[in-house]
Order: sequence, then C-alpha cells, then structure tokens
Amino acid sequence: MRPVTKGEAPDKKFKKYQETESYLEERLGAYCSFCEMPINHVPEVEHKEAKAKGGDEMAWENLLLSCKYCNTRKGTIVAKGDKEEYFWPDEDDTFHAFLYDGILPELNEEYLQNLGEETWQKAKNLFCLVQLDNVPKSPAVKDRRYTVRNEARNYALDSKQGWDKVKKTSEKEIYLRQIEMLAKASGFFSVWMNVFKDDIEVKRILVNAFKGTREEYCLSK
Ligand SMILES: [Zn+2]
Repeated sequence: MRPVTKGEAPDKKFKKYQETESYLEERLGAYCSFCEMPINHVPEVEHKEAKAKGGDEMAWENLLLSCKYCNTRKGTIVAKGDKEEYFWPDEDDTFHAFLYDGILPELNEEYLQNLGEETWQKAKNLFCLVQLDNVPKSPAVKDRRYTVRNEARNYALDSKQGWDKVKKTSEKEIYLRQIEMLAKASGFFSVWMNVFKDDIEVKRILVNAFKGTREEYCLSK
C-alpha cells in the first residue's frame, strides 16, 4: 500500500469536510489511499476514525481519499480513539507491510513478524478492514478492485518485458515515459513497484509520478 505524506493542513477554514477533497487530491493524486485504484469520478473523503463514531470530521490528520469499495467495507468500524489499532498509509510504512507478488495482495508476514506482534496486528487490522484481498464471488458483489488491479498488473508485466529488451539510451527515455504514463493511468503503485522491484531507475520514476509518495519507505530495502 502506497505510503503517503499529505503535508501540513491547508491554511484554510473548511466548513464541510467535502471541501478538503480537492486539497487531498492535489497532494496525493486521485487514487484510493487503501487499494490504490485510480478514481475517475470524484474520490470520497475518507475519515480514518469514522465521523459517525465520533471521529473528527474536519481534522486534516483524520482524512484520506478512498474509492467506494474500500470506503463501504471500512464503514464506521473505526471509532474515535481506535486509530492506533491500525496501520495507516499516511502514518506508517505500509509499503513494506504488504506484498503484491501474486494475484492477491497479502500481509508481509516475515517483515511484520520481525517488528513484533503489535505491529503485525495493526497491519493485519487495516488489511482486513478494507478487505484488500477480496475476490468478488458473484457479479452481484460490487467490488472492481480485484479486476482493475489485475489489469494494472498485466500492464506492468508487459511493460517490464518490453523494458528488458530496450537497449539504446534514446529508446530508454521514451520507454520510461511510456511506463510513467501507463502506471499513472492504470494506478496500483505497489503493483508496479513490485514488478519493477529490481530496477531502481523505474522505481524512481514511479515514486515521482505518484504525488505524495513517501520516497524514504519506497526506495529503501
Ligand atoms: Zn480502494
């Protein structure tokens, strides 16, 4: 999950939390903060601590962007004061917490076990909260995350195959630009980073292409 920085709260008095959407989008890009899906309609402003359970409606530190699939699953489960029981992409190293090697994201058990039981549990709580590995069992289940993520994965894998064949410097620049555009359009930063995990040149491009990404987590081992 892409770790992000929202920066300081905008110097503006908001009357409604919906007014923060354009600021969040400007800082983070129009991607779901949890599943990383590109959001083509207006993203939903997501309250980490649910406003229906006492979470602060306007506090910048309580806000993220979400797709409707993650937002629906998260619902009002996290009440005021419960935030510390979860990992959050704007607070924690969510880049290393989850793996994107296969068709479905999973917990990075080895990495998390080393950090101790409490940290492992927080990462797992977030993973389960938004059901990051959900596979819709029937068309009646509204959840496009699985399909769209795998489309992005196929784009990334195809791009990697092509990239490995590019030898000339002049062609490399053009191809890198293509990768950047395709990654931004198809979203799922972590999927792209995993496919290009051994290629620092491409990883740098990806980190810069997705606004608000925390480079210190994504480009470290
Ligand atoms: Zn989502």
